[in-house]
Amino acid sequence: MTAMTAIAAKGKTPFKIKALPANKQRSLAGRYSLGVQVMSIAAFSLAFMGWINQTTLHLWDNPIWLNRYTEYAIILIFGLWRIRAEHNPYTRRRLIVLVSVVTALWWLVPWLFPVSEPYLGYMGTQPIFPSLHMPGTITFFLVLAAVALFGRRFICGWGCPCVGIRETVGFPFRHVTPRGRLAWGLRHSKWFFFALYVVAFVLLFIPPNPWSALYFGSFALLVGLTYFGSMLLSPVIGNRGYCRYLCPYGATFGLLNKVGLYRINFDAETCNDCGVCTQVCDMGIPVLELARRKGKIDVADCMGCGRCVTECTKNSLVFHDVRNVMRPSFAPDYARLRAWATGKNSAIRWQAGVFATLLIVTLAGAWWLSWA
Ligand code: SF4
Ligand code: SF4
Ligand code: SF4
Repeated sequence: MTAMTAIAAKGKTPFKIKALPANKQRSLAGRYSLGVQVMSIAAFSLAFMGWINQTTLHLWDNPIWLNRYTEYAIILIFGLWRIRAEHNPYTRRRLIVLVSVVTALWWLVPWLFPVSEPYLGYMGTQPIFPSLHMPGTITFFLVLAAVALFGRRFICGWGCPCVGIRETVGFPFRHVTPRGRLAWGLRHSKWFFFALYVVAFVLLFIPPNPWSALYFGSFALLVGLTYFGSMLLSPVIGNRGYCRYLCPYGATFGLLNKVGLYRINFDAETCNDCGVCTQVCDMGIPVLELARRKGKIDVADCMGCGRCVTECTKNSLVFHDVRNVMRPSFAPDYARLRAWATGKNSAIRWQAGVFATLLIVTLAGAWWLSWA
């Protein structure tokens, strides 16, 4: 019995996306001109300079074009280009959400209306909402819960500023993503950074002392240097090098990917072994090989971008998460979503209106809280 027929036998409707015709696969990595690649590296460098100027060098007085928020302004500019250029409707919709979340929640709210966030343990600096990357904050625990229910895609696919810059500015380097056995085996390096992260988490609950201050400072510097340094290495390691090999948060979310409700189911009978799913995966996951071996993709590395699912012309890959557990008949209307993403649905106007209203209410609420 295949994965799909097994689901049907249990009376469940798979979380499924209609396949694109074979000649319309839209997510294979393209080649970009040298000029575009140089522009991407220049944008990465500016983001790097903004971060290092504000945290270490202090050469300029954190102007808008050179502070730690410069990265988010760059994401918005390149994001508009990427949204316009993206042909895969699902990815296009994901980029719209991703760029909007980064712009509103990671840039405008913390920069213009900073609100302190409650936290557990001892922290050297007061975290500002949203403080996803500080273990102990409310945002951190909420995101962990969401990842357990919806998988790592909740944050790595749709809301992380790190993926924001790598999916927009870093896009011209997709085609150099290292693949093969060695590149796949090297993914375990992220557990080293995860171990350092766990130590930082434990130290949060010990009264501050010079050693813990030194540890936190060194850890933050290491994360910052690997985060921005890996951007500059994109022409060699692809746009997802940091997420694959170095990110301690990605490793944390990946663990929950394994033990949570998220996975991608595989129908071995309909698959024609075309291998497109493996080729479009920017995380270098051997999707077809794993699917044939395990009958599903449930690895810690899957960030849920959906490229493999949406590009499978045989509908052999289907998402599964908490929605399928709570409501077995759950099946999103992807035809409607496609029309929404491509602007062919007139409902997009009122949906955009609702989104703009929510954005204004969020900004006004954040301003009020910071004022209060
Ligand atoms: S792996 Fe890390 S850097 Fe990459 S998207 Fe996830 S949290 Fe962000
Ligand atoms: S699951 Fe099979 S049919 Fe679908 S893209 Fe992968 S190899 Fe091709
Ligand atoms: S396995 Fe599929 S959903 Fe997961 S990261 Fe790769 S392409 Fe994206």
